[in-house]
Amino acid sequence: ALQRGVKNEEFSLYLQPQFTRDGAICSAESLIRWLPPGKDPVSPGAFIPIAESTGLIVQLGEWVLKKACQYQVELKSLHLPESFSIGVNISARQLVEEDFIDKVNQILLQTGADPEHLKFELTETCLVQDIDRAKYILGRLRKMGLRIELDDFGTGYSSLNSINNFPLTALKLDRSLINGIEKKDSKKAIVNAALAMSRAMSLSSIAEGVETVGQVEFLTRAGCDMFQGYYFAKPMPFQEFTNFINQ
Ligand code: C2E
Ligand code: CA
Ligand code: CA
Repeated sequence: ALQRGVKNEEFSLYLQPQFTRDGAICSAESLIRWLPPGKDPVSPGAFIPIAESTGLIVQLGEWVLKKACQYQVELKSLHLPESFSIGVNISARQLVEEDFIDKVNQILLQTGADPEHLKFELTETCLVQDIDRAKYILGRLRKMGLRIELDDFGTGYSSLNSINNFPLTALKLDRSLINGIEKKDSKKAIVNAALAMSRAMSLSSIAEGVETVGQVEFLTRAGCDMFQGYYFAKPMPFQEFTNFINQ
């Protein structure tokens, strides 16, 4: 079904806005949705792992990047900050493709998107699979002007070494750290430490899964740079996103 879905383009790329500490919109994360006709939507948590294990993610990831670049170009006509950027999730499988950089360049050329306003979200698990390769690819992307965010920071087996090893521009604190932070001193300590680390290494910080005013207040005091979550807005289709901006 996923194969057919890719062939028939049964996907939609949603956008979820991200905000600075002052409440200004600064960027958006693109999130894929599978909408098989006549059936219930399938969550990416269910089909991305299948796309990864079958290799379909390469084709799908290309579609995502192209769409995200098209959005970036279209959004230039709206009243957004000059630095507004779009985030794209990249899977490990895409990174090891021989022609990954060529594909990125090709899509940038085709769409006329600006690499300076594009950020790739990569997880630590993805980066450590082939450290030398990941370092090389990230270096090339940075030279092209893209920004790199370390996604899901604080989950899985994170080795703090990654922050040192790779040319990153931001740390993205995972939702699991943010969830319940108002009540848990241990989470507060971890988040404070992560934010101190990102400052010391001149990285930006962004919190995902921000759902309550209490979380916003804590994160603001702790010096987190950017926020994303249901408290502000859910991921939405492109048209809805443009309405959201216009309002
Ligand atoms: P992720 O990269 O960690 O994305 C954040 C997830 O948190 C998204 O789930 C988003 O909808 C959800 N979220 C955002 N704000 C909140 C909040 O306040 N509360 C809660 N409970 N959830 C929130 P989604 O869209 O279901 O995506 C799940 C995962 O699928 C993503 O996790 C990412 O790993 C993967 N994914 C999504 N789109 C793509 C894509 O285009 N390419 C690749 N390779 N992976 C993708
Ligand atoms: Ca992400
Ligand atoms: Ca996450």
